Amino acid sequence: MHGLKTFFKMGVFFLVLSGCTTNLATGEKQFTAFMPAEQEAKIGAENHQAILDEFGYYEGATIQAYVNNIGQKIAKHTERDDVKYTFTVVDSPVVNAFAVPGGYIYISRGLMALANDEAELASVIGHEIGHITARHSAQQQSQGVLANLGLAALSIATDAPAALGQAASLGADLYLKSYSRKHEHQADELGIRYLYRAGYNPSASAEFLEQLEAEGNLNALIEGKNANAVPEYFSTHPITTDRIDRTIQLAANYPLQSTDDKKVTYFSTIDGIVYGESPRNGYVRGQDFIHTELGFKFSFPEGYKISNLPTQVVGQSSNSVMVFDGAKKEAGQSIQDYLINVWLKNRSDYAVPETITVNGMPAVTTSFSALASGKTRTTRIIAIAFDNTQVYRFAIQTANPPPATILTDLKRATYSFKKLSAAEKAQYKPKRIKVFAAKAGDTVASLAARIPFDDHKEQRFRVLNGLSARDTIQPNKLYKTIVE
Ligand SMILES: [Zn+2]
Repeated sequence: MHGLKTFFKMGVFFLVLSGCTTNLATGEKQFTAFMPAEQEAKIGAENHQAILDEFGYYEGATIQAYVNNIGQKIAKHTERDDVKYTFTVVDSPVVNAFAVPGGYIYISRGLMALANDEAELASVIGHEIGHITARHSAQQQSQGVLANLGLAALSIATDAPAALGQAASLGADLYLKSYSRKHEHQADELGIRYLYRAGYNPSASAEFLEQLEAEGNLNALIEGKNANAVPEYFSTHPITTDRIDRTIQLAANYPLQSTDDKKVTYFSTIDGIVYGESPRNGYVRGQDFIHTELGFKFSFPEGYKISNLPTQVVGQSSNSVMVFDGAKKEAGQSIQDYLINVWLKNRSDYAVPETITVNGMPAVTTSFSALASGKTRTTRIIAIAFDNTQVYRFAIQTANPPPATILTDLKRATYSFKKLSAAEKAQYKPKRIKVFAAKAGDTVASLAARIPFDDHKEQRFRVLNGLSARDTIQPNKLYKTIVE
């Protein structure tokens, strides 16, 4: 009886889930009935808050409304009318855009700062909508995109070695898997179609891909040979050598129409947008990490390369990695109890925890050794009770036994963790984009000299403004700069 019931349920399940439909956008047969539109919407809604928690909602009613208006305008020209679209600017400095099932599309403020007119932004939105109309995100979802997002958060919260393992593969793919080349091409094709239908110049798509490529080259120049230098956008939407050429050809297939790139509107909308790290992200200044919103700072040892990720800060040297993150505990729960029963709940091989004090804050430390990539590595954990409910943790992985000099450096780093006074908090302000009209006599060199960076000023200014190496400044034209 029980078996029959199960069989019956499975039968219904099979009927519902095995339908093969023709996708109106791509014309392809798809086994997408396994995720009906209502289920896509449910998944999107469930994950919307998690994504906002992770990346942050960019506080700016004008810019949010602007992006949503453009998104809704483009969405009217698609083949799917069963999707309710939601467009959100996230408070992330990295250049990225992504779509999740149910019509949820996210654009980073880093991407907003990089684009040079409304048509370029529209091309990105069109591309993301293309992933949704072609149901790529639905297909990708089944491969575990959002499972990945959840997994990353979970392992950081509960298991330090897993977090350390992930630190080795820094980048957006920690959160979102990339689309296949075929899906990228399809989304480009659909995006250009929607761009044209919405009255924009379809060549804006190739223009913005070139802008992204220039940003990638600039990052490579700034970061040296760092393999993570490519904009995060390319981690989720891989660029292939033929992608730009292909978008140029696709755009050329459309008849000429009178278009407006809306550069003036775009520039006035992004004037003042936060550039680089925000109070929500915390600031990396030299070897210091400062978080004014959470109210603390600490310093990594000299020579550590620092990565400020959404849920952790990672410092890496040639022979050790230091991961910093935080969590909420129950009021009244001791830091020792939290360390043992939450952060170390899956382990029993750690040394007896030792109670310490870090700049007046109760803390506890322990260590354990474990195999990592075939070598025994030692992990030291320092858990600090910041206040009644907020806890922070340093997890430091080194060779076993750890060299004495490294231990001294790392100890100094953890003991540098301290609370910020109101006056100290006030010292740190985010950089912002400022729009201005060039005057006669302005040159790239003279304008770039004013941006608040120490290196590659001219290249930074050119990439920000989409200028090639030969382009010169035109008086009275609008440009972007960065101010502090
Ligand atoms: Zn894509």
